Amino acid sequence: MTTIRWGLVGASNIAREHVINAIRANGGEVVSVMSADAGRANAYAAANGIPSATDSLDALLSRDDVDAVYISTTNELHRDQALAAARAGKHILCEKPLALDLSDAHRMVDAARAAGVVFATNHHLRNAGAHRAMRTAIAEGRIGRPLAARVFHAVFLPPFLQGWRINAPAAGGGVILDIAVHDADTLRFVLQDEPESVVAMTQSGGMGEGGLADAVMTTVTFRSGLIAQTHDAFTAKYAGTGFEVHGTEGSLIARDVMTQKPVGSVVLRNESGEHVIDFDRGDLYVRALGAFHGAVRGEGEPAATGEDGIRSLAFGLAVAEAAKTGGTVKVETGL
Ligand code: NDP
Repeated sequence: MTTIRWGLVGASNIAREHVINAIRANGGEVVSVMSADAGRANAYAAANGIPSATDSLDALLSRDDVDAVYISTTNELHRDQALAAARAGKHILCEKPLALDLSDAHRMVDAARAAGVVFATNHHLRNAGAHRAMRTAIAEGRIGRPLAARVFHAVFLPPFLQGWRINAPAAGGGVILDIAVHDADTLRFVLQDEPESVVAMTQSGGMGEGGLADAVMTTVTFRSGLIAQTHDAFTAKYAGTGFEVHGTEGSLIARDVMTQKPVGSVVLRNESGEHVIDFDRGDLYVRALGAFHGAVRGEGEPAATGEDGIRSLAFGLAVAEAAKTGGTVKVETGL
């Protein structure tokens, strides 16, 4: 397959801001976009240089000139769209959270495997040079044995995104499925460790409607014994983001790295002082799409697989349950 041809399922902001460019930067072509609303589909196609538009998923999936689909609709729609895409033999890049329910996420990944198509989850942060540099430093033993991690992922949801995320629990709104799942994937990737149990508290700090959580703090125990804390929010205008890992021989201190852009800094602090760690400043989404195209061509795996999406969803569901019950909840992935 020379050019990989894409259909967009969802006339979304994330596709417009990042993924269309990442497809094209990797030599791919966006041939059509599907929206539930024909007018929106046409306007989106025109605005983004996409030659065709449709309001029918079946029409998109029955096209012979679509090799892969990018699913970036609201979260409650991912499952049925992914199952239909697998049935149609299309490769699938699906947004997180894969689904609202763990068994649905398993069905999606199983269906893609049975159909022999690539299935990936769009966890962008593991494609950031900062996180890859931290993973390497830890794997090389530069901080000794990792004992603790802290993720600062409290941001301000801009007004143009203050829709279903803050008022639609049925669409998978709320901060946990939006942001905490990214923390889970980034922690797993950087630490090469698996979360085992969580305790959590949520907040409705004025943005989430009808009690929907717009902030959450979580404490996590990992398989190795490491403990981590995460803070996610839609409501923190000035917090800044960060990620720290503290080990027996040193600490990695990263700032401004829980973001869609290839920015921020990573410093290794140990007995000999502070050492800046340089990292690749390439676009996160371009890297993800490059890996996806490679996987479609039979060269390697996507950056984040379907199993990775199952694991981050399992984490998010455990956080939600822990916040609801006030207890410690095991992260059960079913894998
Ligand atoms: P948007 O709100 O931009 O789009 C989601 C859906 O909302 C679209 O599919 C569209 O439906 C509908 N929609 C969009 N604009 C309008 C409008 N003006 N009027 C009516 N409906 C509209 O969502 P995001 O792009 O922020 O998120 C989409 C998915 O991507 C989610 O699953 C989210 O979790 C994920 N995401 C992932 C990120 C990452 O970096 N991995 C970052 C941001 C989001 P239709 O298609 O029917 O037109």
